[in-house]
Amino acid sequence: MYKKPFLIAGPCSAETENQVLETAKSLKHIQPDYFRAGIWKPRTRPGEFEGVGASGLEWLNKVQSEIGLKVATEVAKPEHVEAALNAKIDLVWIGARTTTNPFSVQELAEALSGVDIPVMVKNPVNPDLKLWIGAIERLSKSGIHSISAIHRGFSVYEKTLYRNNPNWQIPIDFMHEMPQIPIICDPSHIGGRRELLYDIAQKAMDLKYAGLMIETHFQPVHAWTDTKQQVDANLLSELLNKLKIRNHNEIEDSEILEFRAQLQTLDEDIIHLLRERKKVSELIGVFKKEHNLAVLQSSQYEETLKNNVLKAVESNLAKDFSIALFKLIHEESIHIQSEILKTDKKRETN
Ligand code: PEP
Ligand code: MN
Repeated sequence: MYKKPFLIAGPCSAETENQVLETAKSLKHIQPDYFRAGIWKPRTRPGEFEGVGASGLEWLNKVQSEIGLKVATEVAKPEHVEAALNAKIDLVWIGARTTTNPFSVQELAEALSGVDIPVMVKNPVNPDLKLWIGAIERLSKSGIHSISAIHRGFSVYEKTLYRNNPNWQIPIDFMHEMPQIPIICDPSHIGGRRELLYDIAQKAMDLKYAGLMIETHFQPVHAWTDTKQQVDANLLSELLNKLKIRNHNEIEDSEILEFRAQLQTLDEDIIHLLRERKKVSELIGVFKKEHNLAVLQSSQYEETLKNNVLKAVESNLAKDFSIALFKLIHEESIHIQSEILKTDKKRETN
């Protein structure tokens, strides 16, 4: 048997009583610490499924009594807190959109004042560490004792590999600033696609996260929300089986893991910039084609290379490295533009 991390599993949304109970049954052998299901769903656009509302709380009560799992749901308003507390929900979390709004968080903190169930706080959708910490401070000031954080990634406008960019440096900084608050990772909302979950979860374990929240559905392809990122119980078991949870005393040098996370974030930034650069090269290619200009305009290239290398050296980068790097980038740009000319020519001759 594998060593299981602290785990919250269950569907993105409670859809029907049958879906909730079948999903909970399928998870019974995994025994997650909590079964999750969103009852009130914050949707980006109106007209999408906004959750079943308070009636779904009864289904969660059946998960408690019939399947024997503790249950968790998202609360976004004081009325949600009241209904969840009345229904004896075992844990509540504040969603990423709510964390962005200090007024809402304050209202929730007051509604939760003095309750003894665990409360979790997802990171705000925007990459703002202080806003996340501020939300936790509001809850703490309200006398809530069991508070944890959930890292679910951050929105970006451009399309990237992830649904929500992990920005690993932010949770790492969070751990330094709030070492007393356990943090768990939600690879489902970071990845947005099942295929990405394992790598994200493993990274979280390597960074000594306290656990995972993974969206699980008995029939993921038929899920009403977040279809692409939900897994069934079999895939969840597989993922957990593959996961290496190192004994933290055995990690010789945990700092190296942090440094690696920083490097990965920076590498992802470099990839993003190169992709943006490629788009501009393509536009230049089209422009040159339309105006019958040569792809290579050497005098201008020499000047740009000289300036870039000068700036790079001023920024403490090695001269040889900078020359090689910018030459390579330039060669690729020429290649991209030539390809554009070629395809257009092909089209003309066809
Ligand atoms: C969710 O957990 O289903 C959810 C809505 O997440 P987030 O608040 O992270 O978007
Ligand atoms: Mn979801």
